[in-house]
Amino acid sequence: MNICVFGAAREEIDPGFIALGETFGRAMAREGHTLIFGGGARGLMGAVARGCASAGGRIVSVVPWFFDGPEVLWEKNTEQIRMETLSERKTVMEQRADAFAALPGGVGTFDEIFEVLTMRNLGRHDKPIAFLDWDGYWQPAMEMLEKCVERGFAAPSLLELYRCFTDPEACLAYLTEEAGKR
Ligand code: AMP
Repeated sequence: MNICVFGAAREEIDPGFIALGETFGRAMAREGHTLIFGGGARGLMGAVARGCASAGGRIVSVVPWFFDGPEVLWEKNTEQIRMETLSERKTVMEQRADAFAALPGGVGTFDEIFEVLTMRNLGRHDKPIAFLDWDGYWQPAMEMLEKCVERGFAAPSLLELYRCFTDPEACLAYLTEEAGKR
């Protein structure tokens, strides 16, 4: 299936995060999944693409024209889709994906995964969503989501719409199983 992966564009992060991305990309390819991603060659995005490519996986980059340059963009794509704006990019990614995974990242990753979660919460799609964690990075976000329900800002059903994993294989197994139920 097509798994849309969001994750950090920056390299200035603990190498443990990079290793997580490479492992996840490799596992995706080994299991025959296609990577749909933002097309960056650096940080966790680059790590996932490298891992995926090393195991012969298919890679679809979805990139606005204003991101450019050989060191910025991943080049060994099965397909590259270009567009003008970030919101068009999110639409393409959301349409092409069967499932979504958020690896650790910054505000770009937050924006992408929370949009996908918001859309699912509003019943606009029913595609599975997972966070893949390392070193507790996503824990404050998980606590915030629980607090949001606890304090009445969302229905308890919100907590059923995503899962957080530390094991890449378990994360993939969840996405595959949930996507199979659709
Ligand atoms: P951030 O988490 O802030 O590093 O942003 C990463 C997310 O935003 C990725 O999932 C991308 O889809 C998008 N993004 C941010 N910067 C870039 C970039 N230089 N090239 C491609 N995508 C990017």
